[in-house]
Amino acid sequence: MISIEKKNQIKIAADIIKKGGVVAFPTETVYGLGADAFNPNAVEKIFELKKRPIFDPLIVHLYSIDQLEIVCTEVDNRVYDLAEKFWPGPLTIVLKKNNKIPDIVTSGLNTVGVRIPDNDIARELIKLSETAIAAPSANKFGRISPTKAEHVQKYFSEVDFILNGGNTKVGIESTIIFLNEKGFEILRYGAITKEELEKVIPYCEIKIDQKKLLSPGMLKSHYSPRKPFYILNDSILNKIDKSKSGLISFTGKYDDGFKRVITLSKNQDLRECAINLFSAMHSLEDSDVENIIAEPVPEKGIGIAIMDRLKKAAFYYMNDFADNKLNT
Ligand code: AMP
Ligand code: MG
Repeated sequence: MISIEKKNQIKIAADIIKKGGVVAFPTETVYGLGADAFNPNAVEKIFELKKRPIFDPLIVHLYSIDQLEIVCTEVDNRVYDLAEKFWPGPLTIVLKKNNKIPDIVTSGLNTVGVRIPDNDIARELIKLSETAIAAPSANKFGRISPTKAEHVQKYFSEVDFILNGGNTKVGIESTIIFLNEKGFEILRYGAITKEELEKVIPYCEIKIDQKKLLSPGMLKSHYSPRKPFYILNDSILNKIDKSKSGLISFTGKYDDGFKRVITLSKNQDLRECAINLFSAMHSLEDSDVENIIAEPVPEKGIGIAIMDRLKKAAFYYMNDFADNKLNT
């Protein structure tokens, strides 16, 4: 249920979208920075605000499956099977685009990534805006994704409106899939696992080297804090000064001696880890520690998506570390 006060705020935000403005809003994954998907000038503002390169396409958000035909063409039945199970929810499906969607949204691709978010505020916003909303995460390009309105504020003072929906309930981005003749392949691991998807349609991986063409915005470095960020291993433990470092803890085994410790889930529940991950990274980025170390989690289920975020966040720093450039 959306309160009357919140509904009024959503109306104001929808008017801004209708007039070609940019609004930050909650989804179940992370906060998004949204604009009218059919208005290229409005979408361009998102790229400028985020400093996002134009080769990195945006996901288009719908409030209902009835909107599918306004953004894409040639929707086969498998999409409806997936939608029945996973929408609203953190699954993005890459489909053939309708030519009313401007090129800036899809970085010139003839496909568009589409999803229906599992968040009442997001869907109400899209509905009242009477359009589809193109939205990447509401952070500066390459930085940590926002899971609460305060994180969005940290990055953007110039956004027309920020709708506050509290903490996001999933905490990491959607799983992005592409359908080939035989089944689905995963362009980005996310909140919905491969095993969950396989219950609906078969998994069928095409050649890895085609991935870059299918999904141009996937970079090795992403989700990065402003401080040196490492995935815990023996050599890092030996070299860093724990008394100046923050730990994102999973098992609790390594907590002693760190200046700050944030435990992702007391029961080592991977879904709870995902919910708390970006918030932990923000807290340590904003704290007095010099380095941030994250304990790896098991690469199974949603743990694959969590490790993907950690590896991307650590990408430059781990390479620096290999070159002995760590400053302790
Ligand atoms: P985000 O920045 O989390 O909103 O995710 C957007 C990502 O979705 C991009 O970096 C792309 O890799 C992927 N994506 C969006 N649209 C498409 C598309 N049409 N085809 C393939 N991947 C897409
Ligand atoms: Mg993002």
